[in-house]
Amino acid sequence: RDEDSHPRQKHRVTTKGADVPQHIDSFEALRERYQIPQRLLANLQLNDYKHPTGIQSYGIPILMKSRDLAAISPTGTGKTLSYLLPVMAALESPISSSKSDAGVGVRAIVLAPTRELAHQIHNECLKLAAGRKWRIVLFSKATASTLSDRNVRDKVDIIISTPLRLVASVQEGNLNLNNVRHLILDEADRMLDPEFLSQVQEIVAACTHPTLQKAVFSATLPAGAEKIAMGMLRDPIRVVVGLKDT
Ligand code: ADP
Ligand code: MG
Repeated sequence: RDEDSHPRQKHRVTTKGADVPQHIDSFEALRERYQIPQRLLANLQLNDYKHPTGIQSYGIPILMKSRDLAAISPTGTGKTLSYLLPVMAALESPISSSKSDAGVGVRAIVLAPTRELAHQIHNECLKLAAGRKWRIVLFSKATASTLSDRNVRDKVDIIISTPLRLVASVQEGNLNLNNVRHLILDEADRMLDPEFLSQVQEIVAACTHPTLQKAVFSATLPAGAEKIAMGMLRDPIRVVVGLKDT
């Protein structure tokens, strides 16, 4: 009980930024506050996710409020669910799924530095997706060629990819990102280092929708990467879990 009522103490969470939304003490609080689809909550239970972790308590409400976020939380603290749950809740809400507002083309992108990580994120996403026909694509050479068919790519909800593959499809004109509403960089310390930075910047530039939400997640964010991240985000909130905030 104590661990739930005092998540800030247990997880040593620090926040920085304007108008930080109230954190949640339970996943049920999400339904009361944001009318999160019942099916998503049921899928949490099915997977035995009973209580939100520190980064989930703070990160989920921030993303549900359509804010940009830089989240720093140690490995194994559930960062994946922190962004997948709000993104999937937003994509499922009646407003965004109504024909008039949804627009055409992929609406959420998660970038990860390796195929292995993208694969793990995809698996986590499938757990939450059970019971509804989500179109979640783990981007690869094979899916890239199916997506060159407009009828296929216009129906995709979420793409999970490494930067290089996605940039190639954008450059070839096979993928339009102007309807992307949520762009997540996982393992952001690596995504923002010189190996990937120019690819990531190209993807960010291709996501031209005015209500694009961006978030970066990482176990650590060295000063250089943090500076780049903060320049990329709009009025961001920064959340740090389990480390002294300097
Ligand atoms: P991180 O990205 O921070 O390293 P992950 O998102 O990979 O962490 O999650 C680590 C593990 O914890 C995964 O097996 C995931 O399914 C599990 N997990 C995530 N959130 C919860 C939760 N609220 N309750 C129980 N298990 C969780
Ligand atoms: Mg992770």
